[in-house]
Amino acid sequence: MTYTPNPARYNTMEYRRCGRSGIRLPALSLGLWHNFGHVDVLENARQMLRDAFDAGITHFDLANNYGPPYGSAEENFGSILKTDFRGYRDELIISSKAGYDMWPGPYGDWGSKKYLVASLDQSLKRMGLDYVDIFYHHRPDPETPLEETMGALDLLVRQGKALYVGLSNYHPAAAASAIRILRELGTPCLIHQPKYSMFVRWVEEEGLLNLLEEEGVGCIPFSPLAQGLLTSKYLKGIPENSRAAKSTGHLQEEDITDEKMVQIRQLNELAQGRGQSLAQMALAWLLKDDRVTSVLIGASSPAQLADSLKSLQNKNFSPDELAQIEQVLKS
Ligand code: NDP
Repeated sequence: MTYTPNPARYNTMEYRRCGRSGIRLPALSLGLWHNFGHVDVLENARQMLRDAFDAGITHFDLANNYGPPYGSAEENFGSILKTDFRGYRDELIISSKAGYDMWPGPYGDWGSKKYLVASLDQSLKRMGLDYVDIFYHHRPDPETPLEETMGALDLLVRQGKALYVGLSNYHPAAAASAIRILRELGTPCLIHQPKYSMFVRWVEEEGLLNLLEEEGVGCIPFSPLAQGLLTSKYLKGIPENSRAAKSTGHLQEEDITDEKMVQIRQLNELAQGRGQSLAQMALAWLLKDDRVTSVLIGASSPAQLADSLKSLQNKNFSPDELAQIEQVLKS
């Protein structure tokens, strides 16, 4: 059926300014790492993208190797863009990345100019786009000079293939150098994409959030639900079709330890006390910090997306609630 976006789509979503830039991002953004590849059901992917846009989610996050197979999330996204979102390109912020393994040989991985330039060209072809809004270096490369990698990002902006650039998985020292180089090149870093959730706290502990605030760079945490652990789905074992049960998933059975399950049960009770699902509380917990521009969620069904969107209805935590959460996380 033809899709007509919800005319009220901008009425309820909160948009937050991304660092010191002209861009505002929705409080929740949708990532296409899992559930959008050729191994997945296209109609399910299409419905999630429609529902997201209808709820005011304007930002979709991809990377060259999302699938499986590699590239297939971009291909599927491109075909859905053509059929469903034709005429809405200017309402969307679309990102892609390069930095992890993509094609064989020495030029399909890490951070060379050769890899980044070729990879973005491929991504644009797969998605049928003239440009992406944000292009990220996906992870730091210990061997390529940072000047070369950042120079490649700057070049791609000057060529009109990306409007803005970002960093992902860079720890503070490397992030500070990259941000400085990009500023000197005249292409300021828009955003940083780190792993951050109740279970993964290095961005606070190592001072990344403070650095980004000082530098005027936005922050978009990925895997905010720890890939599904911070939800009620594993309370009674590992459900069929869950990420931990799939051979293509990145969450492994052994990540779901007894100690984690004790914490998850206690967090679930705290969430219930707030009238939220655990997923909603985990997302709200990240959004309580103004330094977080947008939280980058994943979903495997429209129902999960709808559940996660409800996190926006209660983002306030009392000092007592925060202390109880910390106590569980330290136990
Ligand atoms: P999440 O931590 O949000 O995990 C998503 C998974 O959690 C879903 O697939 C689903 O698992 C489960 N889930 C989601 N919502 C609910 C809910 N309301 N109730 C119950 N279960 C739920 O994020 P991801 O790990 O998927 O990462 C999000 C995005 O971040 C990616 O798509 C990608 O764009 C980006 N990313 C970036 C990385 C980088 O290096 N820059 C690395 C990883 C991700 P199930 O499938 O089992 O149903």
